[in-house]
Amino acid sequence: MRIRHLPETLINQIAAGEVIERPAAAVKELVENSLDAGATQIDVDIREGGKSLIIVDDNGSGMNREELVAALDRHATSKLLGDDLLNIQFMGFRGEALPSIASVSRLKIATRMKDGEGWEVTVEGGKKEMAAPSSQARGTRIEVRDLFYATPARLKFLKSERAEALAIKEMLQRLAMANPEAGFRLTIDGKQSFYHAPVSDPQMRLADILGRDFGQNSFMIDTEREGIRLSGFAALPTYNRKTAQHQYLFVNRRPVRDKLIHGCVRAAYADVLAKDRHAAVALFIDLPSSLVDMNVHPAKAEVRFQDPGLVRGLIISALKHGVHQHGFQTSSTLSVAALGHLKAENQNAPALPYRSPSYSMNAGLAEAVRNSYMPQMGLQEMQMPSARFEEAPVAAIPEHFPLGAARAQIHENYIIAQNEQGVVIIDQHAAHERLVYERFKTQMEKHGIEKQGLLTPELVELDEADAERLLSRADMLAKLGLEIESFGIGTIAVQTIPALLAKANISKLIKDLADELTENDEANGLEERLNHILSTMACHGSVRSGRRLSVDEMNALLRQMEETPLSGQCNHGRPTYIKLSLRDIEKLFGRT
Ligand code: ADP
Ligand code: MG
Repeated sequence: MRIRHLPETLINQIAAGEVIERPAAAVKELVENSLDAGATQIDVDIREGGKSLIIVDDNGSGMNREELVAALDRHATSKLLGDDLLNIQFMGFRGEALPSIASVSRLKIATRMKDGEGWEVTVEGGKKEMAAPSSQARGTRIEVRDLFYATPARLKFLKSERAEALAIKEMLQRLAMANPEAGFRLTIDGKQSFYHAPVSDPQMRLADILGRDFGQNSFMIDTEREGIRLSGFAALPTYNRKTAQHQYLFVNRRPVRDKLIHGCVRAAYADVLAKDRHAAVALFIDLPSSLVDMNVHPAKAEVRFQDPGLVRGLIISALKHGVHQHGFQTSSTLSVAALGHLKAENQNAPALPYRSPSYSMNAGLAEAVRNSYMPQMGLQEMQMPSARFEEAPVAAIPEHFPLGAARAQIHENYIIAQNEQGVVIIDQHAAHERLVYERFKTQMEKHGIEKQGLLTPELVELDEADAERLLSRADMLAKLGLEIESFGIGTIAVQTIPALLAKANISKLIKDLADELTENDEANGLEERLNHILSTMACHGSVRSGRRLSVDEMNALLRQMEETPLSGQCNHGRPTYIKLSLRDIEKLFGRT
């Protein structure tokens, strides 16, 4: 074996293996170049998932002849101002993209500087032709044909055209989110996929891309710590998603993939989202370039912060703060969805059945609500309705409270209240569970959980492993007000319980906790584990669905909800209440 120096084209192809992983990566590099060139309009045109053709056309600065020729040389860049890799002001800096793309495709670049002449050059499989005059009007247009034709192995690994086109679309949307002042157009196989006009407000661009729903159901973040600025938008917990895909992070305007963000979002929303649901966020971190290393990954898709702990803390506390501040809100799309559903139901509702005369006992809203579902019930239920109505002394409870005045309880779980805007329907169990949970947490922070001794210890029989597992956690449980001891094999004696759980079914609570510990034993940190246990306990301490409440009790619950952080959702991220405005209701009846 002899050592040899590899030819230039091969070197570039090796680099291309890392930098240009798939067509979307080529699009990313080319569009980043356009952004670096100050373009305010970028048009991307792809065919067959970018495999046969990618065109990126910009109105940026353009290049003169000399620059055009140099741009295709490896490690030639106009963007590293000194020799300091920590001083990065542009998207590019490695001078690798163009030669890499050129080495694996048929490339043509046409460009013109303002007040200069147009020039173009073509490269095929790394072989450069002489630069020739071009009719290019302004900016730069780059055509990449037959990407990877020179590296058939890579070509084989590409996914379907659709999948590659989708990857390109997502890539371009990320770049568009970070650069609202530029217009972006994507055309796929001759059909326009999207156009985002230039806007001055980053929020508008986000709403453009993530949908109006996200805009209406998110809160703004803008905070700074030690020279690091964090801004962006995060969704209300009730607006949650099945995957963590909608979590976008931009560092100095660069879209980055970073596991850091998923962990932060999880931690911040832990209290308000079920484990298999995810929040949508778009966060921008801006910091002096000396505090972050961009040169970690050939495709520049990852970064390394000098102080990751600081960034993590900043993100988590900002998200948590926002979630708390807006915890009372629930997603507006919920009521819209509910309405849509109601409407659909109504359309095929059966004709109104026989109405018993006694049925007109109540006037007002309560009856309207009751009418809305009574037609679907059989006669039997009509005579013994499970709904219960009680006129509340409305004057005593002003309707200007956000959740209004309780007017009725239906199906022993839903409170119907009336406020100035319309109707509020509250899930009493979900709401109360949240209240108890928040009370637990406040107690924890202040002076520890209040406990209450039992006159005689309650004995709970479990299987041996469950009993052991609980006993091994006895110290932790004691801190939560639950003191337990062994009482022979498989039996546990409960000595004290948290005061808030005075009315709970203790043996059921213990069994649920045993299950909870199996599921969550080692995987989570202590705090997360404690919170899970508290949340399980809260569920046991809350009024069950099925319990009848007096009007006073209902109103007390509503007032407490208004004062409790995060009361807009239960511990599993389900909403605790839904509002229907009078307008919504009028729409249902076709009055508007
Ligand atoms: P890098 O972006 O890391 O500098 P590239 O290989 O992507 O490396 O590009 C090489 C050089 O070509 C850039 O530094 C820039 O000077 C020039 N260039 C590339 N694309 C454009 C463009 N669209 N408009 C103006 N100049 C460009
Ligand atoms: Mg570049």
